[in-house]
Amino acid sequence: MQLADLRLSHLLPSLGLLVSGVLAVSFMQLNEFFVSLFNVLPTLLVLLGGAFCAAYGRQRELFLLLVVYLLYYQLDTQIDYFVLHQQAREDAGLVFHLGSLLLPLLYGLYALWQERTHLFQDLLARAAVLLLVIGVAVALANRFPQGVQAWLTEIRWPALHASWMRLIQLAYPLFLAVLLLLAIQYVHRPRPLHAALLLGLAGLFWMLPEVFIRAHALHVMSSLAMLMLVAAVAHEAYQMAFRDELTGLPGRRALNERLLRLGRQYVIAMTDVDHFKRFNDTYGHDVGDQVLRVVAAQLRKVGGGGRAYRYGGEEFVVVFPGKTLDECLPHLELLRKSIEMYVLQLRDQSKRPRDDAVGRQTRRQQGGGSVSVTISIGAAERHLPLRTAEDVIKAADKALYSAKNSGRNCVRVDGQRRSGAVRLAEFAG
Ligand code: GH3
Ligand code: MG
Ligand code: MG
Repeated sequence: MQLADLRLSHLLPSLGLLVSGVLAVSFMQLNEFFVSLFNVLPTLLVLLGGAFCAAYGRQRELFLLLVVYLLYYQLDTQIDYFVLHQQAREDAGLVFHLGSLLLPLLYGLYALWQERTHLFQDLLARAAVLLLVIGVAVALANRFPQGVQAWLTEIRWPALHASWMRLIQLAYPLFLAVLLLLAIQYVHRPRPLHAALLLGLAGLFWMLPEVFIRAHALHVMSSLAMLMLVAAVAHEAYQMAFRDELTGLPGRRALNERLLRLGRQYVIAMTDVDHFKRFNDTYGHDVGDQVLRVVAAQLRKVGGGGRAYRYGGEEFVVVFPGKTLDECLPHLELLRKSIEMYVLQLRDQSKRPRDDAVGRQTRRQQGGGSVSVTISIGAAERHLPLRTAEDVIKAADKALYSAKNSGRNCVRVDGQRRSGAVRLAEFAG
C-alpha cells in the first residue's frame, strides 16, 4: 500500500454526501418537496440498491443496506407514533438504545466480513447471523424489558461520562472501535467501498443523538448512508469496466472511449516490454506482474499531456491529444529511459533466476535479486492519409515493429511521416 493509493476520488462522493447531510439537517428548513423525497428515499434505496446488489452478488453491501434500513424503519415507526399521539411510545427508549448498540455491531460485522465462500453459503451465513442477533435481542427485550433497559442504560464508567452524551455509554466505545477498524480497513485496502463504509457509519453516528431532536435527521442521514453504499458499488463497477486491475491504468475500453473524442491533431504511441516472455520464464509470473506495475507507474508519469492505457498483456498505449510528433518524442524518449533506469529490488531472494544462463543472457540480473526491463516504442501522428484513430494505431504498431527490429529499447516513428528510422539520441540529454 502506498499513500498515493488513498485517492481523493474514493472519499469525495461519500464526503460530499456526509457534509451536505449534516448541513441540511442542521441549518436548513427542508421544503415540502424534500420532506416527501426523504420520506420515500430509504425504502427506494433499499429496494433498488438491494436488488442491484443481490443481482450482482454483492452480499456485503446488500446486508449493510438491510441493517441501515432496519434501524431506519424501527426509529421511523417511533417518530410516526410520536407525531400522531404527541407522546413517545412506551418502548421508545428501549428500541432506541438497543438500535444504537446493534447498529455499530451489525454494521461493523458486515463491513469487515469479506466475501470469500460460495455465493449461496455466504448469503445463508450472513442471513443467519442477522436473524440470530436480532432475534436474540428482540426476544430478550420482549421477555425482560426492564432488565434489558437497565443493562443498556447503566453508566459503567462514571469518570468517562459527559453530559453531552445522549447515547447510552456502551454505544460510544463500540462506535469508536468500529470506526477505527473501518479506517484501518480503508488504509490497508483503499477502495471506494471502504471509504463509503467508514463515512457512512460516521454519518449514522452523528445522526443517532439527533433523531428525536432535529426533524428529518433520521430520514436524511439514513438515505445518504445508503446512497454512499450504492454509489460506491456503482463507482467500483465503473472501475472494473474501465480500469485495469493489475496496473491501475485505464484499460482498453477506456482507450476506445477516448479515441472517439480525439480531435484532428494527436499522437498515439504503442509501447511493448522487450523480451517479456523470457522475463516471465526466468523470474516467474509474479515478478512479471510486479514489473508491469512498475512500468505502468512510469507510464502514468509521462509528460507532454500524454495519457497511458493498458492495451493488453505487456503492451501499453499513450495518447497525446492536440500534439505533434515533434512535441511528443522528447517525452517518449524520457519515458523509455526512465524505465531502462528503474531497478526493481526483489523482495523474495528465491525469485532470482531459476536458470542462470538465461539470467546472464537477458542481462537483467543486476546482482542481489534486482531486475530491470526495457521497452520499445512506436509512435504515429494523425495526418492524411491516416484519418482514423485505428489507422494511427496501426501505423504506431508498425513503428513499434521497426523498433523491435532495430534492437529494441528505442523509439521509432511512423515510416510514412519520417524518412526511415530516427535515432533519438539528441533527446537523451
Ligand atoms: P518482444 O521483445 O518481441 O516484445 O518479446 P516478448 O517476449 O515481450 O513478446 P510477446 O509479446 O510474444 O510476449 C508477451 C508476454 O507477456 C507473454 C506473456 O507471458 C507475458 N504477459 C502478458 N500479460 C502478462 C501479465 O499480465 N503478467 C505477466 N507476468 N506476464 C504477462
Ligand atoms: Mg507483446
Ligand atoms: Mg514484448
